[in-house]
Amino acid sequence: MKFEDLAKYLLRVEKTTGRIEMVNILTELYRTVKDPEEAAYISYILLGEIEPPYKGGELGLSEKLITRAIAKAAGYDTKTVEKKLNELGDVGLVAEEMMKRKRQMVFLTQELTVKRVYQTFKKISKVQGEGAIETRVKLLTSLLVDATPLEARYIARLADGNMRLGVADMTILEALANAKGSREMKPRLERAYNRLPDIGEITKILLTEGWEGIDKVDVTPGIPVRPMLAERVRSPEEAWEKTRGRLAAEFKYDGERMQIHILPNGNIEIFSRRLERITHQFPDVLEVVRKYVDLEVGILEGEAVAVDPETGEFRPFQELMRRKRKHDIHQVAKEIPVSLRIFDIIYDGESLMNKTFPERRKRLEEVVKTNENIAPSDITYPKTVKELWDFFHLSVEQGLEGLMIKSTGPDSIYQAGARGWLWIKLKRDYRSELTDTLDLVVVGGLYGRGRKAGVLSSFLMAVYDHENDVFKTICKVGTGFKDEDIVEMNKLLKPYLREKKPARVDAKMEPDKWVEPAIVLEITAAEITLSPLHTCAYNKIEEGVGLALRFPRFTGRYRLDKRPEDATTEKEVIEIYKRQRRVGVE
Ligand code: ATP
Repeated sequence: MKFEDLAKYLLRVEKTTGRIEMVNILTELYRTVKDPEEAAYISYILLGEIEPPYKGGELGLSEKLITRAIAKAAGYDTKTVEKKLNELGDVGLVAEEMMKRKRQMVFLTQELTVKRVYQTFKKISKVQGEGAIETRVKLLTSLLVDATPLEARYIARLADGNMRLGVADMTILEALANAKGSREMKPRLERAYNRLPDIGEITKILLTEGWEGIDKVDVTPGIPVRPMLAERVRSPEEAWEKTRGRLAAEFKYDGERMQIHILPNGNIEIFSRRLERITHQFPDVLEVVRKYVDLEVGILEGEAVAVDPETGEFRPFQELMRRKRKHDIHQVAKEIPVSLRIFDIIYDGESLMNKTFPERRKRLEEVVKTNENIAPSDITYPKTVKELWDFFHLSVEQGLEGLMIKSTGPDSIYQAGARGWLWIKLKRDYRSELTDTLDLVVVGGLYGRGRKAGVLSSFLMAVYDHENDVFKTICKVGTGFKDEDIVEMNKLLKPYLREKKPARVDAKMEPDKWVEPAIVLEITAAEITLSPLHTCAYNKIEEGVGLALRFPRFTGRYRLDKRPEDATTEKEVIEIYKRQRRVGVE
C-alpha cells in the first residue's frame, strides 16, 4: 500500500468526531489490506507505536530532533521550523506546512510505501551507540524528503509517538472484527489480545491463521497478560452475597501491581499494571524472586509494597512513586525497600488461567518461600460474615487499604483483562464516606481567571463507557489542585490538547480546550447526583438527565499507572449511585 493512501485514511479518521464513523473508516481500511505484515504495520501506526510498549522499544526522537529532520528535508534552518512549531504546537502540522513550502530540490524522489515507512522507523528504534542520534535524524530525513505534505504530517507525528487520531486498541479490534468477520466476533479478538497484548501480532495472526489462530492464542512467559480486575462492594455482607459465601479474603496492599515473568533462559522480567516493562527499576525484586521463588519458568502476580527500613512497616503508595522519579535505582532500593506480596500465579510451565482460584493458590504457596522480602498475600477463608468483618478490621488496623475478596467457586478462573465479580474489593474509605474515590479521565480544560488566567485550571472529567468504548463526562473539577499541580497538569496535558471534540468523547459541555483521553486522576466527591449537564448515565436513570459528582475534588493522586480505558466505568458509577440511594433511604 502506498503511504499516501494510508495517510488519506488517517486524515479521515482525524477529521471524524464520532466513534462509530471512525470504526467504519478503519473497517474499510482493513478490508482493503490483504498483506498480513502490512496490516500489522498499519495497526501499530494507528496507535503511534512501532511495537507494543512492553517490548520497551522507544523511538527516541525528541521534538528537537524531529524539527531538525524537517528543516533538513525542507531546506530551511532549524530556527524557522522551531518558530513554526511554537506557533502551531504540533510537529505534524509543521512538517506538512514546511513540505508545502519546500526549498530543497530533490529530483529523484521515491514513492513511500507503508512498509518502507514502518521499517525505517523500526530501524530508527534500533540504532544505538555512538552517532545514534545523527543516524536517527538521517533516517527520518530520508522519509520526509520523499514525503508529500500529507504524508509528512503523519510521519512527523509517528516520530513523536502521538498520532492525534484518538484511535485506541479496542477501536482497532472492533474494526478488525468487522473487516474479517463481524462485530460479534470482537470478544474473540479481545480474549486473544488479553493474552497477547500486541496489536500488530494479533492483526497478523488474524490475517494469516484466521479465527482458528486467534482462538489458539495463549499466555507466553515474557509477554505480559492484561491484568484481571475487581468489582467493588461497600460491605462484607454484600461481598458474601455476591460470592454466595464461597470466598477467600486477602489483605489489600497499597503498592504497585507487578507481573513477574521467569523466562526459560533464566531471565526475569517485570511488567506494570499498564504492561510496561519496569524490570530495570526493581533490581531488588529480581534478586528476591531469584532466591525465593522455586520455579524454572512461570508468571506470578503480586503487589510490591514500600517498607519502612527502620520499623519494617508498610508505607503508602506515594513512597513507591517517589522511587520511580529517582535515578540511582540501587541507592533508592536501599532507602525505600520493597516487599512483595504474591497473590496469583498464571503460568508454571503451562497456563494456569483456567484453573480455579484454590488450585492456583495452592500452587502459589508451593513455589513462594516466605521471608521478610516476599510472601504469599495474607489470606483467610471465612466461614461466616462475622469472620469476614473481623479480617476486614484486622487489615484496617494494620494500616492497609481493606480486603480483596476472591471467589473460590468452580468458575473462579483467572479472567485476563476483565473486571468481574470473581474478584471484589472492599476498601475502608468506601465505608466512611458517601462516595468512593473515582479514577476519572481528563477530556477538557478550562482557563482560570486572575492569577491563573491563560492556564488551564479546572478540568472536564469523564468515566469510561466500556460497552461503547467512549468517555462520558461526569464533572468539572477545579478543587484540590495545588499551584504545582496546575503547572504539572498543564505540562501533562499539552500533547493531548485539541481544538475539536475527540471522537471518543461524549459530552454536552464545551470546555475551552478539548483533551484527548490519556490522563487519569483520582477524584473524591460528596455524592453523585442527577444532572442535565453531563453525559454519564444519560437517559439511563431518568429521561433527559445524567449523573454528576457534587463537590468533586482532586485527591492529589495522579493515576499515571492507568490507561484511560482503566478509569472508573459508567457502569460502576451507576451502581454506586444506586447503592448510595439505597443507603439514603435506609
Ligand atoms: P483496579 O485495579 O481495580 O482498576 P485500582 O488500580 O484503582 O483499581 P484498587 O481499586 O486499589 O486499584 O484495587 C485493585 C488493585 O489492588 C489491584 O490491581 C492490585 O494492584 C491491588 N492489590 C492489593 N492487594 C491485592 C491482593 N491481595 N489481590 C489482588 N490485588 C491486590
